[in-house]
Formats: sequence, structure tokens, C-alpha cells
Amino acid sequence: MSSLKTASIRTLDKNGREITTVGFERFGFDSEVSLDALRSLYLRPHYVTVASKGDGEDDIQQLEQHAKFTKDAAAYQSKSIYHSDSHSISYTTLSRFPPVKLLPPSNRKRVLVTGGAGFVGSHLVDRLMLLGHEVTVLDNFFTGSKTTVSHWVGHPNFELVRHDVVEPFMIECDQIYHLACPASPPHYQFNAVKTVKTSFMGTYNMLGLAKRTKARFLISSTSEVYGDPEVHPQPEDYWGHVNPIGPRACYDEGKRVAETLTYGYHRQDGVDVRVARIFNTYGPRMNPFDGRVVSNFIVQALRGEDMTVYGDGKQTRSFQYIHDLVDGLIALMNSDETRPVNIGNSDEFTIGEFAELVREIVEKVQKEDGDLPTRRVQIVYKPIPTDDPQKRRPDTTRAKTSLGWQPKWTVRMGLEEMVRYYKAKMLEGSL
Ligand code: NAD
Ligand code: UDP
Repeated sequence: MSSLKTASIRTLDKNGREITTVGFERFGFDSEVSLDALRSLYLRPHYVTVASKGDGEDDIQQLEQHAKFTKDAAAYQSKSIYHSDSHSISYTTLSRFPPVKLLPPSNRKRVLVTGGAGFVGSHLVDRLMLLGHEVTVLDNFFTGSKTTVSHWVGHPNFELVRHDVVEPFMIECDQIYHLACPASPPHYQFNAVKTVKTSFMGTYNMLGLAKRTKARFLISSTSEVYGDPEVHPQPEDYWGHVNPIGPRACYDEGKRVAETLTYGYHRQDGVDVRVARIFNTYGPRMNPFDGRVVSNFIVQALRGEDMTVYGDGKQTRSFQYIHDLVDGLIALMNSDETRPVNIGNSDEFTIGEFAELVREIVEKVQKEDGDLPTRRVQIVYKPIPTDDPQKRRPDTTRAKTSLGWQPKWTVRMGLEEMVRYYKAKMLEGSL
């Protein structure tokens, strides 16, 4: 079996300096945690595999593999076991949780994260938990999964609630990160009416909650509010170019009306609001089958399948790594900035170039691990989806001046980590 060298990963930032922590102190809120602590929560298999030897004994095939991932965090890892003979799994609960900061009650926030079981939400939850805050996740598990946060279930600072945000919800809290909404085009187009309802009713309910509890409210809006932009790169004061009746409208217009509602509550009722316009973000725990370009390309390349570029591949996107986004969201939440803020990485690629970069990085990781594929994967071209934006790159001047935030991760470093994550999932058989 090939080796998984997480222990030897060195991650360098844009200036060539090694990244060992993520986060920083801003506006009196310290969001810094060790990268290894975070990695121990996502860059590992969820179970070890055993095969029965027939003499009542179990042969544990993967313990060594497992140990490589867990590093110093072995005591905090689930030891769930996959029985390959019976294709069944024995789940194990944690006997000890990863260490979280001990904050004085005056510094400890009660934080509600809607959509906290999704890709972005679960990384935000990991960070807030390690920092010592009290976190409640509200999720209907439409696109998210309990497994993304299961390592916190039972922790006294953590609560997981199955709830659909289109219904009202009551809780006492200090901060609300309102993330609940499907984000990938196939998911949000699956039930367009529900996406609009989630965007409007969900935001309405959470703003009502913020008004009652006087909690600060942050909504995860999107670069899609700019539609297929005529201004490049996109600053926050650009009003956008959105088709209101196309297949993407349920999401684009949903987020636009959610912003309108947010500023309505701000002006009329004094709700303390923050609006993050998030540009394409990728990272571990992204649903490998959600149809977004980063997950599609990596999974295709790892499986040795053709990589599907839609259209002529000349459309552009700018990709940011998840830890940069979480840094930006936390900085925005704790700042005084009530205007919308773009959070994204300005390294822009055509999708054709991006396919080649992903292929090169997958080949590099495979070579390092001694897995030599039998053939080079091919890049093939498929029809472009309706209303696919031609260009996208954030103008992040506001985030830089107002939050002191700018992305640290290069696309290459982020992709390498994500390739290792999916590779691990494939080895354990869960992908
Ligand atoms: P995701 O699909 O992984 O997560 C969304 C989460 O919300 C899931 O856990 C899902 O089950 C939950 N959810 C959906 N509808 C719900 C409802 N009605 N009630 C309760 N929970 C519900 O997507 P993500 O990438 O983590 O995106 C999170 C947020 O960030 C979304 O609001 C999205 O619009 C925004 N965003 C993401 C990106 C990106 O590139 N990932 C870019 C721009 C904006
Ligand atoms: N895309 C692609 N191949 C894929 C998936 C997506 O070429 O397998 C393209 C898609 O047409 C779009 C870009 O990649 O131009 C980003 O797509 P994604 O769904 O990730 O996000 P979007 O920014 O369009 O919401």
C-alpha cells in the first residue's frame, strides 16, 4: 500500500514562509490555532479496516496508516472500525475531545452557526471550538452531513440541532453566522423554489432571532450577486449583472434579496449586521460529488478519469483556500465593518489552466507516494452550463484596509492538501 505522508507536509505561504498556524488577533478577537490541530480533525481516515482471520481474531490492516494521520492527536481520534468481510462499521465515540482553549466567561461567545455541518460551516465550527467558544450548529443535512462535526458531538461546548431554517428557531446567542444554503450549482438547482425559500425565509428567521437576542448577524453572501460581471475585478460597489429568470437565479437572486433583507433589518431595527461576499472556495470536506469544479477535477484525476472542462475553458475563476476564508469570516464578524466585504483570493485562472494545474498536482502527490498511474488523464470538453459567468475575480481592497485580511494560502498549497484529503478518503474506501 502506498504511504500517506501527512507527517512530512510542509506548507508554505505566498512569501515562502512555512504555515504552522491559521488565524490572527483582530479587533480584540484571537482566532489563531495550530494547523496541525485542525488537520487532525480533517486529514485522517474515519475508521480503520479489519478483516477477520477466521480464528476469531481480527487483522487490523490500517493501524499504521491511521497513526500517520493522527500524529500527536491519536488520543482524540475516533477508532471506528470497518469490517471488510461483512462490509459493516463499528462506530466508536471519542473518549477524549481535542483540547479547546479555556476562556473566561466574559470572552466566551455563544455562537450559532446555521449550515454548520456543511463544507465552510464545519471548518468554522472547528476553529470556534478549538478557540474555546460555545457553538450550536443548526442544519437540515440537505447537503451537509453529521460526519463533518461528529468529532464534537458530546462536547460540553457543542450542540448539534437538526432544523430547517425556513422554520423559526429560538436560542440565546451572541453571534450568528448564517451559512445555511446549498452552494454548488447542481445542489441549489435541484429544488430552485426551496433554495429561494431558504435564502429568504431562512435569512428572515435568523434576522428575527438576531433582533430579539441582539446577537451580531453575519450572512455568507456570494460573488454570484455580481452575476456575469461587466466590471472586472469586482468591487463591492458594483451592482452586478444577474439574469433574474435563469437556472442560477434561485441562488443569485436569493442571495441578493437576503442582502436586501439584512440591510432592511439593519436600517429599520438596528440589527448589527455583517455581509461577507464569498468567492469560490475549496478545501477538505467539500462534498466530492457536489459538481463544483475543484472537487470534480481532483476526484476525476485521482480516479484516472477524463477531466471535464465545460465550454472552451476560457472562463475564469479565482480560488481561495478554506482556512483563509475562515480567517476572513471571523475577522469580519468581530470588526465594525457593516458594508459588504468581498472575501476571496485574487489569483485568477482560466478553467482550462486550472484543469492542468490540478492534474500536475495530483501527479506530484502520486509520485511522492509511489503511486504511478498507468496512463495520463486527459482533459475533455463538455457543453457549458447556461449563464455560466465568464469572469470572476474579487477586488479585496476593502477586506485588506478594513479587516487587515488578505489570503495567505497559494492555490498550489491548498490543492495539494485537498488532493491528500481525497486520496485518504479513497484509500479508506469512503470515496
Ligand atoms: P454546503 O452545501 O457544503 O453547506 C451548506 C449547509 O447548509 C449544509 O450543511 C446544508 O445541509 C445546510 N442547509 C442547506 N439548506 C438548509 C436549510 N434550509 N436549513 C438548514 N440547513 C440548510 O455549502 P458551503 O460551500 O459550505 O457554503 C456555505 C455558505 O457559504 C452558503 O451560504 C454559500 O452560499 C456560501 N458560499 C460558499 C462558497 C463556496 O465556494 N464554498 C462561495 C460563495 C458563497
Ligand atoms: N466547471 C468545469 N468542469 C466541471 C465543473 C465546473 O469546467 O467539472 C466550470 C464551470 O462551468 C464554471 C467553473 O468551472 O465555469 C466553476 O464552476 P463551479 O460549479 O465550481 O462554481 P461557479 O463559480 O460556477 O458557481
